[in-house]
Amino acid sequence: MNDSFLHKGQRQRLVEELRTKGIHHAPVLHAIGNVPRHLFFTDTILQSHAYDDKAFPIDAGQTISQPYTVAFQTQLLNIQAKDKVLEIGTGSGYQAAVLCTLGTRVYSIERQKQLYFKTKQLLRSLNFFVETFLGDGYKGLPQFAPFDKIIITAAAPYIPRPLLEQLAIGGILVVPIGEGAQQKMLKIVKISENEFEQSEHGTFSFVPMLGGIAE
Ligand code: SAH
Repeated sequence: MNDSFLHKGQRQRLVEELRTKGIHHAPVLHAIGNVPRHLFFTDTILQSHAYDDKAFPIDAGQTISQPYTVAFQTQLLNIQAKDKVLEIGTGSGYQAAVLCTLGTRVYSIERQKQLYFKTKQLLRSLNFFVETFLGDGYKGLPQFAPFDKIIITAAAPYIPRPLLEQLAIGGILVVPIGEGAQQKMLKIVKISENEFEQSEHGTFSFVPMLGGIAE
């Protein structure tokens, strides 16, 4: 399966749709317009819906996030080229590919073993240079800290302290918080070693952030 003119046209329509839904950051829209989302689908029937603004199931009971959600979280991160970004929940690899397209250095953690191996291979084959890790996102990656930006792409019951510690001063963490069907999108800015500024940005629906590594 490759990237055709049909796919490119569908992506441009998706970009326009996201613009009308309030995504205005040009580099984010440009990235969405360039990442071939259909190649991140494992189910070939669902693949024909890759440019619908919807979340879809992937392997291991997980989901590929809705394009609007990916664009929204990325916009909140206020990405600058060369930012060092930590993503929790590699999943399909789509969000990581969008971040990569924005010129960032991406470190991404996945706890599902099968998904980790599959996505690592997929990202490499599509030439997205993402550092992927099998591990528990609650712990982050202290050996690579500090990160300019941290994005959690699963519903977290609380903000994991190690991630706040691994955020650079002036850095931004974006996380959906809540244990029910819907979560609040929070943006946390690290003002100093012990001071954080928090703002709320609407409700979203993610799969839960779980602990440990799963076979
Ligand atoms: N960013 C992904 C979204 C995938 S859904 C994409 O663009 O497709 C969320 C992912 O988070 C799932 O793959 C799930 O296995 C993973 N996850 C949940 N808890 C985690 C944790 N503690 N550490 C790492 N990954 C986690």
